[in-house]
Amino acid sequence: MEWYQLHPEEVLHHLDASLDQGLSHAEVTLRQQTYGLNELIEQDRESPWHMLWKQLTATMVLILIVASVLSGLLGDLKDALAILAIVIFNAGLGFFQDYQAEQAISALKKLAVPRVRVRRQESWQAVGAQSLVPGDIIALEAGNLVPADCRVMDSASLRVQEASLTGESEPVNKIVDALADQHPLAERYNMVYMGTAVTYGRGQAVVTHTGMKTELGQIAAAIQTAKPSPTLLQQRLDRFGQQLAIAITILILIIFLLGLWQGENLRFMFLTAVSLGVAAVPEGLPAIVTIALALGAQRMLKHQALIRKLPAVETLGSVTVICSDKTGTLTENRMAVTDLVFAGTEMSIPATPNMPLTPTLPPNPCLQSLQSNQQSVLDVMLTGLALCNDACLESDPDQLNHYRLLGDPTETALLAAAAQLGSWPPQFRQHLPRHQELPFDANRKLMSTVHRFQTMPGLEALAQSAPAPLSSLNLMFTKGALDRLLDQSSHIWGADLIEPLSAAKRQEISQIHDRLAADGKRILGLALRWLPQSPNGLSPQNLEQDLVLVGLVAMIDPPRPEAKDAVFLCQTAGIRPVMITGDHPITAKAIAQQLNIASSLPLTGQDLDKINEAELLEAVQHVSIYARVSPQHKLAIVRTLQHQGQIVAMTGDGINDAPALKQANIGVAMGITGTDVAKQAADMILLNDDFSTIVEAVREGRVIYDNIRKFIKYTLSGNCGELWVILMAPLVNMPIPLLPLQILWINLLADGLLAIGLSVEPAERNIMRRSPYSPTENLFSRGVGRDIAWIGLLLGCLFFGVGYWGWQTGLAHWQTLIFSTLAFSRIFLVQAIRSEQESLFKMGVISNRPLLGTVLLTTGLQLLVLYHPMFQKIFETQPLSMVELLLCLGVASLGFWAVELQKWRMRRTSRLG
Ligand code: ATP
Repeated sequence: MEWYQLHPEEVLHHLDASLDQGLSHAEVTLRQQTYGLNELIEQDRESPWHMLWKQLTATMVLILIVASVLSGLLGDLKDALAILAIVIFNAGLGFFQDYQAEQAISALKKLAVPRVRVRRQESWQAVGAQSLVPGDIIALEAGNLVPADCRVMDSASLRVQEASLTGESEPVNKIVDALADQHPLAERYNMVYMGTAVTYGRGQAVVTHTGMKTELGQIAAAIQTAKPSPTLLQQRLDRFGQQLAIAITILILIIFLLGLWQGENLRFMFLTAVSLGVAAVPEGLPAIVTIALALGAQRMLKHQALIRKLPAVETLGSVTVICSDKTGTLTENRMAVTDLVFAGTEMSIPATPNMPLTPTLPPNPCLQSLQSNQQSVLDVMLTGLALCNDACLESDPDQLNHYRLLGDPTETALLAAAAQLGSWPPQFRQHLPRHQELPFDANRKLMSTVHRFQTMPGLEALAQSAPAPLSSLNLMFTKGALDRLLDQSSHIWGADLIEPLSAAKRQEISQIHDRLAADGKRILGLALRWLPQSPNGLSPQNLEQDLVLVGLVAMIDPPRPEAKDAVFLCQTAGIRPVMITGDHPITAKAIAQQLNIASSLPLTGQDLDKINEAELLEAVQHVSIYARVSPQHKLAIVRTLQHQGQIVAMTGDGINDAPALKQANIGVAMGITGTDVAKQAADMILLNDDFSTIVEAVREGRVIYDNIRKFIKYTLSGNCGELWVILMAPLVNMPIPLLPLQILWINLLADGLLAIGLSVEPAERNIMRRSPYSPTENLFSRGVGRDIAWIGLLLGCLFFGVGYWGWQTGLAHWQTLIFSTLAFSRIFLVQAIRSEQESLFKMGVISNRPLLGTVLLTTGLQLLVLYHPMFQKIFETQPLSMVELLLCLGVASLGFWAVELQKWRMRRTSRLG
């Protein structure tokens, strides 16, 4: 028998599970030992050995190994061994960096695992999806990704999109009853499968299969996530590296031939050429990008931004527009009801943040002035707010008879208000159980629940309003956006009677709404309707009409204090913050003003529906507030902004936000309030839902991009210097000035150790005071290419000058002079390249401690090579006298001074400009 053919009780029995109790913790541990974790095993994950192997077999390394073996065969065993040692050390360094990056990425992946509400040890808990075992009872609601294969136990209009598994794009209604006969996957209507998404409704299910045993796990090919494709920058660097390799090969060929022509020996020239090739080709560039991105993603995590897709780190730095939700991202999402409007009266509710939640609160003073007829309407209103509400009150384990609120902040605020004003929600929920529901959705902006009615004290007025015997009726409450509710209402509950909703009354209510909204308050309306017990068709169109408006609720949700600074930072950084909200335009505008987001008039969803493409193109240029929008509007806004060449970051939380998140250059999902579907579509998840985290991530993205450019500038200018001196030497009949081993040694020190220090360089001071750079800009733009050219030439001339002087004056160790100058110049230069504008003396050498560490280490190593007899033998160096050493250091520092001078001039011109 298959699970879908069994009745719910049989399924529970077979799985030894219970709907009310769930599994015990001990049982879960036991089952985890039997079934393993609920994870799909990635089969193409790279093992450390494979990574090491890749490093050792990289083309350049292979060439060097062959060259050293050849050299060994030709008789120079010492050289061969030393080259091998350096090669292995270099590969080890590369492996270590790769491994670190891989670890950082897989740690991020683990954090992105969705959380699931599961019933264990008799209570609901949120756990990571990987801990599920067969027999676990889970709760499902719209926006969840189904975390394992399960048999449905309860379905309130549960609908699941199964396209990823069955190819069927229409969501499927899920049922509880057993199915007879055999059915293909797509027709097993009482099962839900791992990897599919709940698009509507709610339900409960019992886990039947986990991990690789699930349908998804069995389609091995489908889950083998394709290898992440290289990021834009990596692709460009790869291409650039190939072009550079060709150019350098030609150059080296020339050097090789020049050397032979000068009478150098073939073996020596061969080794020189190969070493030069290895040193000059920046083969590590794409790897450095991965490392910079992975470590950057790790730093972003410290600021609560979880990167899901690595290229996002790169794009973040180029963001020009951040489209953000209001509620919870720009505001605190700590709602509190401030006013109730009903039966012709407006009642302010004093803020009582620390009031305990218990069923026995003393009467609230604000109720004293109410007349009895107003009190009965208030009772109806509070009943509606308590019933048409998915939040719940859970008893506080720490304090007897005290309760805690769980759920969406809008709804918990309503429950808290009902409790404070004397209507204890659980009591109503017991008497008027929920029979059916139309869940809230961001397009309708309404939510309705249908209840069986049993009268109880306080509900007399409600009972009297019933148009037929109570036994033949159900009561529906609808709450939501007031403008939508007014459209669907035909009557209003006045102080004494239910009366038709006249045009004058509508206007009066709208005016009250606008006045409250102008303070930035979020306003919800509440309405009701009596329904026959078996209404025809449970659809919003059928039910949410002909409503009786009962009243309005206003609540505050203050802007986040840090959001104002973040908005300011965006503006100085040339990034436009745009608010896109489902809330009312007046509320949206008030909050936008408090945050100093440009106070253009808000454009509403309705406006957007009316305008054509050209008008939208024109509107998005200046509109910074969009209100009462639906998720599909978000998509249109992103597309239009992108059409204008903007790089857009867009936030979202709901299931319908997924297309806009995918379309945006950076899709940002909310970590706390976001649905799994939104998170899956996003590039980045805000663990704290906070707008300022996006700005922080943008800043980090800019730092990373800057550092990659600095790395390129440093490596290539140094390599150019080396090439120049070797090219110049034959022109004056000077022998080859650097030995192969020396070239490799400098490559190891400079590109292997020092340059890494640049990838952790802290942010430039003006990083958020300049406009974003285009993600497609040339890597060598803004002076990088020019600087590589002149610094390279300058260094080449300096090395040549020192060498030529030594050679001319007949110093036996003139080559050691060049070698030392070269090594020290790279140590000096790295400090100057740390900032594009700022002087090192202002930044201080200790502001990048890892780099300072490598500077000290490489200086020590270089001195060892100069003065330790063993290394002297290997590298064919001779000890320099104090004067010679100082001369080398002095000349080597000239590159540093030249770059500092250039920065000084730049600072002066920008100050004068
Ligand atoms: P943002 O898009 O900035 O997060 P939002 O949370 O206000 O804004 P939605 O959640 O789409 O946007 O809500 C839009 C409107 O729907 C709200 O202004 C409110 O009137 C109504 N609304 C929100 N939550 C509920 C709810 N739980 N029940 C009924 N109506 C709701």
